[in-house]
Amino acid sequence: MRTTPPATITKLKRFWPSTLLFAITGILALTAVPIYGVVYGYHWYQWLAFAIFGGLCAFSISAGTHRMWSHRSYDAHWSLRLFFALFSAAAIQGSILNWCAGHRNHHRYTDDNDRDPYSARRGFWFSHIDWMMHEYPSSHLDYKNVADLKQDKIVMWQHNYYIPIIISMNLGILLVLGLLTGDVIGMLLLAGVLRLVVNHHTTFMINSLAHMWGPRPYKDDISARDNYLVNFFLCGEGYHNYHHTFQTDYRNGIHLYHYDPTKWVIKLLSWLRITYNLKVASPIQIQKAKLSVQFRQAERKLAIGKRKEEWLQLLRNESAQFSKTLDNWKKLQLQNTQCHGEQLTEKWNRMTIQSKVKEVEYSLKMQSKRLGLLIKQCQADTTAAT
Ligand SMILES: [Zn+2]
Ligand SMILES: [Zn+2]
Repeated sequence: MRTTPPATITKLKRFWPSTLLFAITGILALTAVPIYGVVYGYHWYQWLAFAIFGGLCAFSISAGTHRMWSHRSYDAHWSLRLFFALFSAAAIQGSILNWCAGHRNHHRYTDDNDRDPYSARRGFWFSHIDWMMHEYPSSHLDYKNVADLKQDKIVMWQHNYYIPIIISMNLGILLVLGLLTGDVIGMLLLAGVLRLVVNHHTTFMINSLAHMWGPRPYKDDISARDNYLVNFFLCGEGYHNYHHTFQTDYRNGIHLYHYDPTKWVIKLLSWLRITYNLKVASPIQIQKAKLSVQFRQAERKLAIGKRKEEWLQLLRNESAQFSKTLDNWKKLQLQNTQCHGEQLTEKWNRMTIQSKVKEVEYSLKMQSKRLGLLIKQCQADTTAAT
């Protein structure tokens, strides 16, 4: 990826709280954690505490701070919001208010080196961790973009008492667990230090790796990518190209079989009425975004070989068909909003419109397959000709 400096560079002050936190926990994870393991050994219950505590922190950041508070992709009962507030504080990644203010800027100004707080165009190190270790102007928060969150009592409580909550959630819980199991140091090292370092760096990979490595099937003019490695470690957060395209969708992996545990749990909780108002992007909007990228890719791939004009003509025909289908869809949307009147007629009209919308969706899916086939045939033809 191209790495470019920001347009304005000011003398940077180090931000010591984050620097010390990352340095101390990182050094301990690389030294004290393995040495203690070799000398005294760890018990299965310490590994279990590491996995459960780490999983709850990762899930609270992903489902709570990210998808619910940052993007308002669904709502939740106060008890779940309180749970998210406690465990996202345990992850020590900034209060919900700060996290969301920065993240909303990241989505609004993606790849703008002066305004995206963790722009990946400034390099791996910057987007992964350095943006938190210096007082960069791009990290400055004015909180204008989180006015809605200031009305949330749980968010403001967590913001105002952030340090005491961090201490009670980390030291408090782990000291009790350590005393109960008879090995406080082992518990602090494994479920405290190592868990925190793993939580930190897996989350940070979304800002670095998931903006540098992987395909961009829904939007190809931004650095965000679908990264399957990040996805595996981070509860489904790795479908990052999709997420940047449809940020208010509570899902990141749209198909049921897509590995997105955060989405599965949010859905499961909606059946228990703990989560509600789950938002999803319409299948046609998704197909439209995907096809727009496919058309641009096809244009590049078909513009080669002796018969390029013939292939490009076929592509133009497909493009005309694409515009026609989208026009149809716009008309159907208009009809849908105008569809008022007698209840029975309205119901009948809506059903007719819905079945036509399904036809549009199917037609876009078929077009996507035809485009794939067109590219394959063109490539086979070019290979045979050489
Ligand atoms: Zn986001
Ligand atoms: Zn991003």
